Amino acid sequence: MKRTLLALGLLLLLAAAPAAAKVNIVTSLQDFASIADAVGGSRVETFALARGYQDPHFVEPKPSFVLKLSRADLLIVAGLELEIGYLPPLIDQSRNDKIRPGAAGYLDASNGSDILERPTGTVTRAMGDVHPFGNPHYWLDPENGRIIARAIAAKLTELDPAGAADYKANLAAFEAKLTEGQKRWDAQLGPYAGTEVVTYHNSWPNFLKRFKLVAAGYIEPKPGIPPSPAHTVELINMMIEKKIPVILMEPYFDQKTPKAVSEKTGATLVTFIPSVGGVPEAKDYISLFDYDVKLLAGALAAKKGAKP
Ligand SMILES: [Zn+2]
Repeated sequence: MKRTLLALGLLLLLAAAPAAAKVNIVTSLQDFASIADAVGGSRVETFALARGYQDPHFVEPKPSFVLKLSRADLLIVAGLELEIGYLPPLIDQSRNDKIRPGAAGYLDASNGSDILERPTGTVTRAMGDVHPFGNPHYWLDPENGRIIARAIAAKLTELDPAGAADYKANLAAFEAKLTEGQKRWDAQLGPYAGTEVVTYHNSWPNFLKRFKLVAAGYIEPKPGIPPSPAHTVELINMMIEKKIPVILMEPYFDQKTPKAVSEKTGATLVTFIPSVGGVPEAKDYISLFDYDVKLLAGALAAKKGAKP
């Protein structure tokens, strides 16, 4: 009887013991949430504000975002003003000082990443440019993913020192997967090194640089500016002259102009996925590259095969 009571008491104790509190992470992009999940493992809970199929410049704020932010221990953003259109008021409304810019719970993933197109002169919005401080789509280079993962591991270790060993091991496992992935992706796109492509928005400079491809032009006359007839005519002429094989477009733009350009030039229109969650197959940071690389390599191979 005594033993039974003791066992019962132990059971009650176990049931009453609270589970170890997780580090609550909110990210602007699903890509950062995916990397944070990989590095944080079971010690973290992540929530991304933007869905992978949405334009990351223009995210519709929801009341639930404020609640998530109010409970966050860590906020991870792309910075470079990618989130300027929606995030600052949400941080204010959350009244959570832990995640304000400059606070310990605020991580700007652009710090340390390879950022392209940084302006050298005075920054002006006269041209309606949405990339005033450099290209904010830098997560689309697996090597930047590695840098971001290391920054997240360091930040989590700072906020949750008890998890240091876990974060270190998880980071090593993630980096090993990235290294394996790079070999795969390099092998798939290697044969097309030097190929010029056209993209809708300037979302892919880091991706193209990593895989030795070149952006010859954009459907948008300037980042954030919708296509204009004059620019489109110029683009079509250039594409015909250079025999550009593919147009890469993000899933959230109107297909009308890119379709017309594709018909006029013979270039294949490919819907490229700029973020984790953009399609179900791109379920995490590694499979995002698996998806895009396969799609692009397939389109380029078909073009090569089609030539006389
Ligand atoms: Zn952009």
